[in-house]
Amino acid sequence: MDVNIARQSEEDDALLDVIEKWLERDVRPHVLRLEHADEYPHEMVAQMKELGLFGATIPVEYGGLGLSATTYAKIVEKIAETWMSLSGIFNSHLIMAAIVTRMGTEEQKRQWLPKFAAGEIRGGLALTEPDCGTDLQAIRTRARRSNEGYVINGTKTWISNGIEGTCFALLVKTNPEAEPRHKGMSMVLAPKGPGFRVGRKLEKLGYKGIDSAELVFEDYAVPAENLIGGEGKGLQAALSGLELGRINVAARGCGLASAALKDSVRYSQIRRTMGKPICEHQAIQLKLGEMATRLQAARLLTYDAARAYDKGERCDMEAGMAKYFASEAAVENSMEAMRIHGGYGYSKEYHVERYYRDAPLMCIGEGTNEMQRIIIAKQLIARNPV
Ligand SMILES: Cc1cc2nc3c(=O)[nH]c(=O)nc-3n(C[C@H](O)[C@H](O)[C@H](O)COP(=O)(O)OP(=O)(O)OC[C@H]3O[C@@H](n4cnc5c(N)ncnc54)[C@H](O)[C@@H]3O)c2cc1C
Repeated sequence: MDVNIARQSEEDDALLDVIEKWLERDVRPHVLRLEHADEYPHEMVAQMKELGLFGATIPVEYGGLGLSATTYAKIVEKIAETWMSLSGIFNSHLIMAAIVTRMGTEEQKRQWLPKFAAGEIRGGLALTEPDCGTDLQAIRTRARRSNEGYVINGTKTWISNGIEGTCFALLVKTNPEAEPRHKGMSMVLAPKGPGFRVGRKLEKLGYKGIDSAELVFEDYAVPAENLIGGEGKGLQAALSGLELGRINVAARGCGLASAALKDSVRYSQIRRTMGKPICEHQAIQLKLGEMATRLQAARLLTYDAARAYDKGERCDMEAGMAKYFASEAAVENSMEAMRIHGGYGYSKEYHVERYYRDAPLMCIGEGTNEMQRIIIAKQLIARNPV
């Protein structure tokens, strides 16, 4: 057993090493250009396929790398440290895969997972609608039963990979009258086809390069075998994918917080004022000390949540804490990095301005930070009854 764990960790270290080299060689030199052109990184996506990233957490028997959430979090942190947008391209894809892995039948797993793992079919998660994001039970996308399966009508918005992706885990209402409301919700795998079109590309403050889109369903038909987890299990399916999603967002937060710190440590030793490097001014030292401590705390919370996920334990509280703290750490560290860089922190020729455009998204996606604190509090009460 110990030998296996050691071998696994050596393999994981080797993979991390390969990814770090890839980031330095093939990603970092192109980030500023792609970011400011808001251009989809096709070449990098092809390389990500070769690296196996689209199957990172998919079990080995279905063609994936079968990585633990802990190793996955470390990979995501490294990638987000270089260009956060890239991690979004495979994260929501892997949430879709996690839903099939956790809730799908053996036949569904064999049908879909190998293609997801190879990156042959890529996509994401379609929950949010123009009228609701947090209150998912209020969705209006309607799936009506037909002879062959379901006919779907409705609109989803803010869907990551919406343009480049070809298949989505789509949350629908199969029974709008059901009480409680979640019993009328279901999850279907929706490959693009007649009746499923991209409404429009959405423009954003940050998170450039990756496509966010509105998706429109007009009499879109899916076969009954695309229903994942059975009718009425849609919310459960969505939540089962979001635990991994929140660990991913926490890891992205760590990546951004780390990039902001690394750039600041480097810059503060080069930039001189009043005859000495600014890192020798106490005002800057206080910032660096706080940034480093925040990053370390965020990492420990993220690894703690990933460990619980790997052990198969319920980890909504742990993932919520990690997501909440690490995303706020990213916001604070990126703002401090901007202050440390002075005017250059406001320049598009540096990476720092990107960090503080990207960081706030981590506070919103995969459940807002307001909701995370509510989830933490509810779990705290549930786990400590009097
Ligand atoms: C770049 C980007 C990419 C995204 N990618 C995806 C994707 O791939 N798939 C997908 O499905 N969605 C995606 N989203 C949508 C995202 O998940 C939602 O924006 C998010 O869940 C919040 O929903 P909302 O925007 O409707 O805000 P609302 O739900 O309207 O919330 C507005 C405010 O009210 C607060 N609030 C709401 N309800 C409560 C409550 N009960 N108690 C306390 N506070 C509350 C919220 O915290 C927030 O501050 C993406 C969003 C962005 C910006």
